[in-house]
Amino acid sequence: MTRCLAGLTAVLILLAVICPVCCEAPAESSRLLDMSDALDDIAVDLTFSPDTEDAIQAEQTLRLTNLTGDDLTDIVLRSMTGAYLTQATSPAASAELMTACYPKGFDPGGVSVLSCLILEEDCTWAWTDAARTVLTVTPAHPWKQGETLTLVLTWKARIPCCRSRFGHTDGAWVLGNCIPLPAVYQDGAFRTDPFVSVGDPFLSACMNWHVRVHLPDGYAAVGSAIPRMQAGTTIFEAHGLRDFTLVVCASPAHMQGTAEGISIDCYASDTARAQSLLTLAENALRVHTAAFGPLIYPGVTLIETDFPFSGMEYPRLVLIGRDVLDAGGDDLEETVVHELAHQWFAMQVGSDSFCHAWQDEALCEYAYLQYLKACYGEARMQKKITSFIAPSLRMRLSASLTPESPLDAFRDLREYSLVVYGRGTALFVALDEALGTQVLCAGLSDYCADCALRIADPFDLITALSRAAQTDLTPLFSEYLATPRR
Ligand SMILES: [Zn+2]
Repeated sequence: MTRCLAGLTAVLILLAVICPVCCEAPAESSRLLDMSDALDDIAVDLTFSPDTEDAIQAEQTLRLTNLTGDDLTDIVLRSMTGAYLTQATSPAASAELMTACYPKGFDPGGVSVLSCLILEEDCTWAWTDAARTVLTVTPAHPWKQGETLTLVLTWKARIPCCRSRFGHTDGAWVLGNCIPLPAVYQDGAFRTDPFVSVGDPFLSACMNWHVRVHLPDGYAAVGSAIPRMQAGTTIFEAHGLRDFTLVVCASPAHMQGTAEGISIDCYASDTARAQSLLTLAENALRVHTAAFGPLIYPGVTLIETDFPFSGMEYPRLVLIGRDVLDAGGDDLEETVVHELAHQWFAMQVGSDSFCHAWQDEALCEYAYLQYLKACYGEARMQKKITSFIAPSLRMRLSASLTPESPLDAFRDLREYSLVVYGRGTALFVALDEALGTQVLCAGLSDYCADCALRIADPFDLITALSRAAQTDLTPLFSEYLATPRR
């Protein structure tokens, strides 16, 4: 997510019917298909009924192989939407977000599980955290190391009236972090980090996705792949995605283009706004590809969304806040460039954005600096460094905070922004000055290629950069990330 909150005034615009949401899906590369071959599989069948209390009814089938190294008695899934059930747990109801996200007052929402079968046997399941984001499923028999099982889950979701990653306003429904996903298993336990309101507390492994969406007349689905229509059903197929995010709305204006072989689909409330997104996206993808190497995914979609964050990244999908589109100018350009850089840093190469948020956010800020230099020259990049990054080093903040602090250490978005985006990016600015842009970007390109579709830890990044620099950068990273600034 970009660091800034845009203006808080919701501008209600009816989405014009310009173009049906259905295009020819761009082909996935043989490299992506080869790398995805051994990944788990997920099929989701969603029925959307906007006039009912629970707008989504779903059945999903997960085909999972236990590669944890342990025999397991439980399987843990995460759906962050349970947190939207109460004001106390909703990430959109924090003191600094409540008014912007719930302009009509708090409205509850979330996923309710209806049934769960494993290998066609009923199994027990329960939400095992207070915020209902941790779904613990207990099979009748232990899940042995190396064994593949099929888990079938049926669920429904009430989508709250909320300007957030999960919510509906003004005829558009955003289903971010909604579909229950297998939790990541690390060091003998499933990761169950809380859904804090600061940053993007999500961690998931890549899977191969098959999504079918049934919509009433007059609605269209935009998501983490290009859809095709088959007998009135909208079908998405995509390999190697960490999540699948869907936006359902009346058919929006659509512009389509290509840059560096990446298909770009832009949706907005009118063609001029869709075109402005497309122009910015084409430039951003050219610069990012030159800096960090080819993107493994064949396409990316950008869509205007009514929420108070300037933008939010998902696999092959970027949500752009309506307020920032209204504002246009530098804020819009920075949002598009930063969010598209996440297709390399967080999507192609996963990282732990709860424990090491700098590993994707600071790199996306560095990507924005490289974009400014490529498109407008060195002086423009230095102006950004002087106006935001350099001051972040001088700010008086809690002495215990460093870019390596976990998300729940930050009290608010300002602290998070200054430390992770400001001070985190300062590290890459210093490396750029010391090593040269060419060496640093060569290391980042290797990192993107070598760690594609994995969850990389900081050591993977440091190793790739050290190799490019021909010097061990571990002490520098260790000291900077671990040492509180005073
Ligand atoms: Zn970001």
